[in-house]
Amino acid sequence: MTTTQTQSLGALLHAPLTTQPSLDALWMPFTNNRAFKAAPRLLVSAKDMHYRDAEGRTILDGVSGLWCVNAGHCRDEIVEAIRSAAGSLDYAPGFQMGHALSFELADRLSTILPAGIDRVFFTNSGSEAVDTALKMALAYHRARGEEQRVCFVGRLRGYHGVGFGGISVGGIAPNRTVFEAQLLPHVDHLAHTHDLGRNAFSKGQPTFGADFANDLERIVAERGGETIAAVIIEPVAGSTGVLIPPVGYLERLRAICDAHGILLIFDEVITGFGRTGAPFASQRFNVTPDLITAAKGITNGAVPMGAVMAKREIHDTVVQRAPAGIEFFHGYTYSGHPLAAAAALAMLDLCANDSLLTRGAALEDYFESAVHSLRDKPNVIDVRNFGLVGAIEMTPRAQQPGARATAAFLECFKRGILVRQTGDTIAIAPPLIISHSQIDEIFTVLGEVLGELQ
Ligand code: PLP
Repeated sequence: MTTTQTQSLGALLHAPLTTQPSLDALWMPFTNNRAFKAAPRLLVSAKDMHYRDAEGRTILDGVSGLWCVNAGHCRDEIVEAIRSAAGSLDYAPGFQMGHALSFELADRLSTILPAGIDRVFFTNSGSEAVDTALKMALAYHRARGEEQRVCFVGRLRGYHGVGFGGISVGGIAPNRTVFEAQLLPHVDHLAHTHDLGRNAFSKGQPTFGADFANDLERIVAERGGETIAAVIIEPVAGSTGVLIPPVGYLERLRAICDAHGILLIFDEVITGFGRTGAPFASQRFNVTPDLITAAKGITNGAVPMGAVMAKREIHDTVVQRAPAGIEFFHGYTYSGHPLAAAAALAMLDLCANDSLLTRGAALEDYFESAVHSLRDKPNVIDVRNFGLVGAIEMTPRAQQPGARATAAFLECFKRGILVRQTGDTIAIAPPLIISHSQIDEIFTVLGEVLGELQ
């Protein structure tokens, strides 16, 4: 018998689960399906800083779900906004039609974006935002009569989602291997900035490594700067295990792009909406890109939504120089969906009322001390932090890369703490509403787990 036959939707939505659903049909994303189905971890509800799992246990969320629930879970204002939108305008086509919420949202977003970036295109995810931004870069150069600019530059260890564009400019090997034969052509990768030899145990931005940006000069020399459409990087790389940009690195990258007429795209899917202590990391680092991609925190994770935010000149060039008719042949059925737009507007209200977009900066010192308190735990080779992001990197077990951090993740979950594991790094990025005592709780439990781990 299937779950739907044995349990009503209401029973499924409200904890605790009386019957475990059948796990067979669902092919889970980025998951060890076999291991998960042998020992499932099912979440059934959430509120503020906590999840509740199928066994009725309370789990303190140390990673904002998946870097998205910046304002904490199931906030009443967002729930109500979604409920109200669902009851009044469930869907509105976005092609050649519009509705007020998406216009209002774009307008409100433009007030928290870096100066000069004030045009917004909606997508449904970070991956779609990345592919959209890459297309915008091509469209912009073409509109300016530079159609030879067709190359992209990403960075080793970069994560830009899972579309073919995103994995082509991305630099995480396992995400590319199976698809290698069909990736975008004309893509180069900058060196990554992880340099344990010079920067291990840095607090905030590492001191050394602005010179890594010079690798763009190498690519410019090899390709010809006039062929490169855009460089895309995460200002703080998340999925690869948290890499903080060295002091001066982003500025140098910006300068090289400017010298060669190359657009700079900051993928702010995890750094947007307060994660680094400013609305966007570009503001925190005081380096303004040409395009910003965002998703996740835009709706507090409550409804899928992504966005590309563009300098006005990029928008105007594409729109005003196009022949009459549709100017940009791109868009999604759910671009600017009413439920997502309503959730995002409520999220912006919450951020304003609770000063959430700068709370990461206010908590940063306390958080930094807590993260670095783990530096002497066994196997730890680096601890790094910025805003409300922290990472603890461990030596891999012999012939088992990732196994040690996986064990840490699983043990933390058993002890009531959700963290994120990538490779042999544990990442922490809690909701921005976290209290000092909850920060203590996360790092006390994680410290105990690391202390006992083989
Ligand atoms: N870009 C960055 C920097 C990300 O961290 C992610 C997801 O973690 C993505 C893009 C992809 O976003 P999505 O999973 O919403 O497609």
